[in-house]
Amino acid sequence: MHYLLLFKKVTFTFIFVFASSFIFAQEADSLVIETDSTDVFFEKIRLDNDVAYRNETTGEIISQQSYTVLCEANIPADGTEHEGHNHYDYWQCDMINPYKDVVLPTPFKIEFDQTTFTHPVDHKIVVTSRFGRRRRGPHRGFDVDLVTGDFVRSVLPGKVRFVGYSRGHGKTVVVRHANDVETVYAHLSAYTVKTNDVIKEGQIIGFGGNTGNSRGSHLHLEVRYKGVCIHPEYVFNFDGSKTINGSELWVTNSWKSPRMHSSYKKSKIKPLSSEETALVSQKNEPKFHKVRRGDTLSQLARSYSLRISEICSLNSISKRSILRIGQIIQIR
Ligand SMILES: [Zn+2]
Repeated sequence: MHYLLLFKKVTFTFIFVFASSFIFAQEADSLVIETDSTDVFFEKIRLDNDVAYRNETTGEIISQQSYTVLCEANIPADGTEHEGHNHYDYWQCDMINPYKDVVLPTPFKIEFDQTTFTHPVDHKIVVTSRFGRRRRGPHRGFDVDLVTGDFVRSVLPGKVRFVGYSRGHGKTVVVRHANDVETVYAHLSAYTVKTNDVIKEGQIIGFGGNTGNSRGSHLHLEVRYKGVCIHPEYVFNFDGSKTINGSELWVTNSWKSPRMHSSYKKSKIKPLSSEETALVSQKNEPKFHKVRRGDTLSQLARSYSLRISEICSLNSISKRSILRIGQIIQIR
């Protein structure tokens, strides 16, 4: 009788775990703890009237207390840690960006152990706005048209770090992936996951909507690394191939700066796969100056060792132009 019940429970949980697109999958009693190589599944069982957990792979049974410690510490079940830092540093579930004190010099590297991803929506991707300059200010995401209620899926497997509302982003889910890249899904109408859920690639994380600072239903998708927004199209190919642009991608200043791109037209994407090429590319990237009170063309020319005519031709302005405070002037 006891065995039968246990068997039933295990089967039940398995169905839940693998029916990843099923909305109520999160109610299962099992928890998947990520490790570098494989996922470790734990089953909740009853042992002498106490709750315990059985490691599916090794058969090892641990107490509820040990299990809680394991989950709360968020360390991989085999005890190994990622080299140099812990994947769960800055694992804060009450804010979209917990990395506010982190300074990340460019170029920096992001790595992927898979070559493809899943589209966040089920229909053909219709882009309504890209990462870049926009009339109402910089746009740090990739906007995909949808109808309120459409499924929104995680583009990669990962663990849900944030589920909540913010004034700008509206109802938002943030998923952290194994390589520390995070994807942000904003303006949702409802959630289907909760924080600390381990999710599979393509799993539904919520329903599309129009919450927060949004004009019309759409998904605002961001790709972040340690709090830095990266041009989503630098990483993910939304042309239908569903490919990731490389196993090693170097992010230069340009690929994290909206002002280097237009949100109205597609930027040319040239993935940088080594530090050397990234350094060369970054050296040649345009540089900008934001006009402050008292700035004049001749002063800018002096401080950047340029001729006034060079600044004028770079910015298509005349020598007699009067600079506005806040105006962005290209100086390289
Ligand atoms: Zn957006």
